[in-house]
Amino acid sequence: MTDPNHRALPRSVRLSMPLARDVVVEVAKQYGVCIRPVPLKRLDTRTGKTEIIDVPCGATLEAKCPPCARRNRQLRKAQCREGWHLEAEPVTTPEDPNAEQQWLVEFRADIQAQRDQAHEAGQDTTDLDAVITGLDEEINAAGMRGNVLGRTAPKRSRSTRRRQDAPDLPKRKMTATTLGRTFTSSDGKTYRPSLFLTLTLPSYGKIRDGVPVDPESYDYARAARDALHFSKLVDRFVQNLRRVAGYDVQYFAAVEPQKRLAPHLHMAIRGTLPRAEIKQIAAATYHQVWWPSVDRVVFDGDHLPVWEEGTGYLDPATGEVLPTWEQALDALDQDDEAEPLHVIRFGQQIDVQGVLAGTPDADQCIRYLSKYLTKSLTDTLDPDDTAQREHAARLADALRYEPCSPTCPNWLRYGIQPKNAKPGMAPGRCRGKAHKPEHLGYAGRRVLVSRKWSNKTLTEHKQDRRTWVLEALGQAGEPTDPHRYVWRHVPAGDANVPSLAARLLRSVHERQRWRAHLQKLQAQATGQDLSAIDTERAA
Ligand SMILES: [Zn+2]
Ligand SMILES: [Zn+2]
Repeated sequence: MTDPNHRALPRSVRLSMPLARDVVVEVAKQYGVCIRPVPLKRLDTRTGKTEIIDVPCGATLEAKCPPCARRNRQLRKAQCREGWHLEAEPVTTPEDPNAEQQWLVEFRADIQAQRDQAHEAGQDTTDLDAVITGLDEEINAAGMRGNVLGRTAPKRSRSTRRRQDAPDLPKRKMTATTLGRTFTSSDGKTYRPSLFLTLTLPSYGKIRDGVPVDPESYDYARAARDALHFSKLVDRFVQNLRRVAGYDVQYFAAVEPQKRLAPHLHMAIRGTLPRAEIKQIAAATYHQVWWPSVDRVVFDGDHLPVWEEGTGYLDPATGEVLPTWEQALDALDQDDEAEPLHVIRFGQQIDVQGVLAGTPDADQCIRYLSKYLTKSLTDTLDPDDTAQREHAARLADALRYEPCSPTCPNWLRYGIQPKNAKPGMAPGRCRGKAHKPEHLGYAGRRVLVSRKWSNKTLTEHKQDRRTWVLEALGQAGEPTDPHRYVWRHVPAGDANVPSLAARLLRSVHERQRWRAHLQKLQAQATGQDLSAIDTERAA
């Protein structure tokens, strides 16, 4: 990796500064500075000055650089800790969009325009789609609920028969609280107990050292479908949990892979329920996937549906138009014999642990919850473990033709036009996250935080840290006008953007100054304990 700017230099000079950019990147990493910053143009409406500002990749893109991933993990930890044993009801009134939210929305609008242009020109939009998904998540996390573009189509109302049945569970009267019960001991001390759960999926065959003893009989199809619909099962569990608990239970959960490559869930819950009840809820929870059947392969190999503009996908032999997604669902509604495509349940292995606020146990659980957050699901695999690699490959095979969503091109294989069908679709070539080997069938979010977990969104947690450091620096207190800055996307190759090395050096320099200042403050600190300030995290 050499800086393109160096190509203009004579060869001898170039050789005397080998790998300069790589060195800068390493230094940036040590300082916790984002190594893939996204340049944005910032117009100060008060002064009329335009500046290029680097936004950390962690704030926009889905794939975060290591320093951003690390910082994100620290923020998640703070968020988890803050909400778990909350003593007062969180405030959930929506606030005015602040500057950060505003630029996110504007930035997203620009990316959307680029994406639409690329799509018009018949170019691949996968990367831009990924950026948009990441931005939507970030915008939601920044405190704006719902989809930026709004709901485009009314939600399909389900027929009574396809409704999910409520499992047979005790039901307590709902109280309007998100807080758990407290207990007072005989010496007057108040305890705020909470729970830490681990939920796993069922067995698909005997496992030894993380791999199936007999790959032939291991139920890969079931493992694939369970992974695809895992997040739905978690939703159901939370619904049932709330119904039984009788209060608005809040949770912070992380989805992680087991060694056998099935997703499992760690969940911190605010408040407590009897262990037996949690096990009862988990055992009774299931999710039915009411999708058309995929029992019969209709199109395969060279025999594939063809696209006709204005009509949709046709049978190449008969010219018959394939049923649309909506038609296929209607047919499913009218079929009294129909069965759900899949029913997912948890396995027998359920772990429930009681945790008290502020104990080492609680800290241990929080570390556990954030342990794998910087990694992709498959990063925890051992690259030298051939058996495990083969196991992963067989799972990826099982996922190849499995429809991952209503819009999945794999529906064509089973004679159905995917929802929002468009030209160029082919079974086995879905670009959805779930089919990618590194996702192991699970395309959902890795961290699931309920809306009233803490009083703050992740962005507010970030701002907290910023404010805290600024206060320590004696620079806080300047009210920020949310309309002061206008943010614009910078097109690739813009001559106003300095080289990456120069930008990283600038960030490192700022970080150095900041650290030096904090150290000075620490040295001066009298009475006020500043030693707790972790410069790494706070910046
Ligand atoms: Zn970054
Ligand atoms: Zn798919």
